Amino acid sequence: MFDTAIAGSLPKPAWLAEPGKLWPLWRGDGGDLARAKLDATLLWIKTQEDAGLSVIGDGEQSRQHFVHGFLEQVSGIDFEHKVEMGIRNDRYKAMVPQVTGALTLKGRVHATEARFLRAHTQRRTKFTLPGPMTIVDTVADRFYGDRVRMAFAFAELLNQEALALVEDGIDVVQFDEPAFNVYMAEAADWGVKALERAAQGLKEAGERRGRPVTTAVHICYGYGIQANVDWKKTLGTEWRQYEQVFPALSRSCIDQVSLECIHSQVPPELMALLEGKDVMVGVIDVASDTVETPQEVADTIESALRFVPAAHLIACTNCGLAPMSREVAEAKLKALAEGAALAGRRQQAPR
Ligand code: ZN
Repeated sequence: MFDTAIAGSLPKPAWLAEPGKLWPLWRGDGGDLARAKLDATLLWIKTQEDAGLSVIGDGEQSRQHFVHGFLEQVSGIDFEHKVEMGIRNDRYKAMVPQVTGALTLKGRVHATEARFLRAHTQRRTKFTLPGPMTIVDTVADRFYGDRVRMAFAFAELLNQEALALVEDGIDVVQFDEPAFNVYMAEAADWGVKALERAAQGLKEAGERRGRPVTTAVHICYGYGIQANVDWKKTLGTEWRQYEQVFPALSRSCIDQVSLECIHSQVPPELMALLEGKDVMVGVIDVASDTVETPQEVADTIESALRFVPAAHLIACTNCGLAPMSREVAEAKLKALAEGAALAGRRQQAPR
């Protein structure tokens, strides 16, 4: 009854990259590395299917980091001379590349893994790209001199890649915008518009190919790493960041919104602000290795159903599972699918 999907990333096997890291180093190089990335993708497609998920992703096995995987195929960016920059309003320091010229795509970014995903599952497929505002917050600007102008430049490139992903057979194109939870006023002001630019024409492209395309945005409080855990402690007992952005998203052309729910301090009634949208409710905690029980997942879905119609609810993870162990991630995927199935049975049971 309820669709189930992951937010995006899954852990990389230890033979592909350093385990337990958000920016892991690859184990191999050249053709061996390219092959290993696809082997890992296949492994996770099968694992998601076996767990019982209805929407399947590539687990982001082919990119080192969710933003830089895209940036590596953009010219106008100097990767040779990275600089340290405070990102997400200085929550953490990162070595980031610099934008030094007009931005253009060198070519396709994710064709290989998107086509591979399409070729190896019969289920609906989801592919993730970083959102324009989050990219702007993860590079140093030495050229545009204006965050909005640079965001729209990135949005155009994201749109080119997204349209091509539709041609590759992807069904859900999701943009990740954790920055929306940090710069709420800017997100509502121009972030959502830049996102819509990135998603422009995708639905029409789906109609042309004869199978619908869904557009999505993922907005979270970050991976379960220490800097984020510490940041969340400063946010008080009620996290109301979504309240500022959801009204703008609800008026936008984006179909689905992925948000954090389980073990978060997000007041569930904020989901009501997304009227008319599909809501990907986070029912799996990515900041804890404790595996949720199906009952816990079903209870979380039930609490969301007070504010989201059943037909618009998709059970999802709070964020990516990248820094976790494979074993924990596998168990969490199972809990997600079993919990969603249990919630579905509870819905259909006579009352
Ligand atoms: Zn996330």
